[in-house]
Amino acid sequence: MADPAECTIKVMCRFRPLNSSEVVRGDRYIPKFQGDETVVIGGKPYVFDRVFQSNTTQEQVYNACAQKIVKDVLEGYNGTIFAYGQTSSGKTHTMEGNLHDTDSMGIIPRIVQDIFNYIYSMDENLEFHIKVSYFEIYLDKIRDLLDGNNFPSYLTFSSKGCTERFVCSPDEVMDTIDEGKSNRHVAVTNMNEHSSRSHSIFLINVKQENTQTEQKLSGKLYLVDLAGSEKVSKTGAEGAVLDEAKNINKSLSSLGNVISALAEGTAYIPYRDSKMTRILQDSLGGNCRTTIVICCSPSSYNEAETKSTLMFGQRAK
Ligand code: ADP
Ligand code: MG
Repeated sequence: MADPAECTIKVMCRFRPLNSSEVVRGDRYIPKFQGDETVVIGGKPYVFDRVFQSNTTQEQVYNACAQKIVKDVLEGYNGTIFAYGQTSSGKTHTMEGNLHDTDSMGIIPRIVQDIFNYIYSMDENLEFHIKVSYFEIYLDKIRDLLDGNNFPSYLTFSSKGCTERFVCSPDEVMDTIDEGKSNRHVAVTNMNEHSSRSHSIFLINVKQENTQTEQKLSGKLYLVDLAGSEKVSKTGAEGAVLDEAKNINKSLSSLGNVISALAEGTAYIPYRDSKMTRILQDSLGGNCRTTIVICCSPSSYNEAETKSTLMFGQRAK
């Protein structure tokens, strides 16, 4: 049985390198690192389970953030890994990276490889069924990214109606992700803007059955690339843009509330306050494994947003 002491929320913090336009502009590189757990910004220390400096490899991030959760999911636990941060802070790089390159691939393709390597290594009495779903949440509506025929289609209530694709190899999973990403592109005019305003969620479901003992195990893992956490300036934003901004704000703050309630061990967890937390309810808290990767820009230009991102991460601890 599950050990309640194992209920874990881990908060990791990753800084990307300065990008070329930041260098050209003459931005300063502001984080100062102390050991593996502390980053200091403007004289204030922020402590996490792990802090990754800008030169950390995708493999190192995977090993620290996801490897253990994958093992637990294969033992029948549920889990969620989030990437949180302002637009351009490295969320998609961290979660997906380059899906087809062994060095620069991110957490999702590495998870997929690890799951299949595990399956290939197990004895033949174990039967595995792996299925994946891929959807996004935009303005509190769910869009199935694997339903190319009926696109753009919105499911208002839950992710239950989303396509579930059975997959038999890592290549099949990568093809499925590519398919979802191209569907996502088709429906929007500006992908960069759109991805900064919607949450994208990739779900991997692992069912296994021992054909001799008939013992069954089932675990699932949500991999969430959150909408950009940046504040939209109050002047200028109006109409649809303001609605989007308010909605993102509300969904990220209700996620923050759920996670800090879980971290504090409060009896009442406000899952019902947003679509996302309702969907993730059975994979957050309880016996579930949760990791948040806080993604940050190191540039002096983004200092205020970086501090607010670090504060979000601190609330979860
Ligand atoms: P987000 O998804 O948060 O908007 P991205 O992941 O798209 O941000 O990252 C913005 C840009 O910075 C991309 O070109 C990405 O390749 C690059 N980048 C992000 N993180 C890193 C990193 N740790 N090392 C190198 N390049 C990175
Ligand atoms: Mg992104």
